[in-house]
Amino acid sequence: MTTTILKRYLLAPGPTQVPAEVQLAMAAPIIHHRTPQFSELFGKTAAGARAMFATEQPVMMLACTGTGGMEAAVTNTLSHGDHVLVVKGGKFGERWEEIALRYGLRVTALDVEWGKAVDPAQVAAILEQADDLKAVLVQGSETSTTVLHPVTELAALTRDRDCLLIVDGITSVGVVDMPMDASGIDVLVTGSQKAMMLPPGLALVALSEKAWRANESADLPRYYFDLARERDALAKDTSAYTPAVSLVTGLAAVFELVEATGGWPQVYRRHDILARATRAGVLAMGLELLAPDAPSPAATGVLLPETVDGGALTRYLRDTMGVTVAGGQGRLKGRIVRLAHIGYADTFDVVVALSALEMGLAGLGHEVEFGRGTAAAQKLLMEMYA
Ligand SMILES: *Cc1c(COP(=O)(O)O)cnc(C)c1O
Repeated sequence: MTTTILKRYLLAPGPTQVPAEVQLAMAAPIIHHRTPQFSELFGKTAAGARAMFATEQPVMMLACTGTGGMEAAVTNTLSHGDHVLVVKGGKFGERWEEIALRYGLRVTALDVEWGKAVDPAQVAAILEQADDLKAVLVQGSETSTTVLHPVTELAALTRDRDCLLIVDGITSVGVVDMPMDASGIDVLVTGSQKAMMLPPGLALVALSEKAWRANESADLPRYYFDLARERDALAKDTSAYTPAVSLVTGLAAVFELVEATGGWPQVYRRHDILARATRAGVLAMGLELLAPDAPSPAATGVLLPETVDGGALTRYLRDTMGVTVAGGQGRLKGRIVRLAHIGYADTFDVVVALSALEMGLAGLGHEVEFGRGTAAAQKLLMEMYA
């Protein structure tokens, strides 16, 4: 197939762009994993992961995508027939429910309107009524609806109960300041291909002391995803099975890059500014936000007018203009686009995304006043340099 597109832009909420210096680090010849060199790298990277999670606990690195980390979170802390509460406000909330049901847990699903954050008062009321709840499962950021859930408020509810807070942090770890220990999160999961600026294939999981206690009696079946085995291996700077050597090498380079550019506070600040600028641009274009009340700093969901076919728009942007943004998932298919500003995204990626949205709509024959979105965003983006 021939194409006239010379340069492509990846502006979807995963996989995200990988910095050139990280790609180069991963291109180094593979080293054997049972060697002092790799152990040094593995230990150093695990320390970096603990800093990213803001936890004293070990952060296990598994060779799988984020969903594998979610599965490990469930199977390592819960037992057959346990009652759990799933916050279900999007596609990834649904995934928590599917995993829990597959493992024979009793699920109470709290349906949250797509585009809204969960109300902690509702969770509090359910916890009061059902004192047998062993876990609350939630997304830090529900990527399908671009919503940020109030994880710290939820942790305040589970902290003093015999109930774990299990958080899918796949688009919130390394995006927003969500310190695991200080917040009281019991299980935190993330994956490599979102904020961590890496290719897919690595999941990171950490358990609180409370979750490790639950692990001692958790009887769900697990073999590869045995986190106690990984914890014991990690204490010796190694992993139970062959680690994803190249991705671990890449992660070490990512942590160096973060350190060299202002550390995690700067990362959170950048995501906040990019997200606010994107939202300002979308509103200035006369479009509506999918999640105006509790927007995620990872990606911005844009509600499209009835006259715009979201599928056609994302295809046009990708195939004609070389710009990949995400469409809607599940019930939002065709109705939204999601502009990501997560991971290796900076000021001018926002300008590209908004400009592409304007040009894409124009290209499909919709009336657009060029420059309205980018102008509004540019004003805000100047904060980056203040
Ligand atoms: C991307 C994503 C996942 C799924 O991760 P995979 O790496 O595709 O398994 C799960 N949860 C959230 C919130 C995500 O954004």
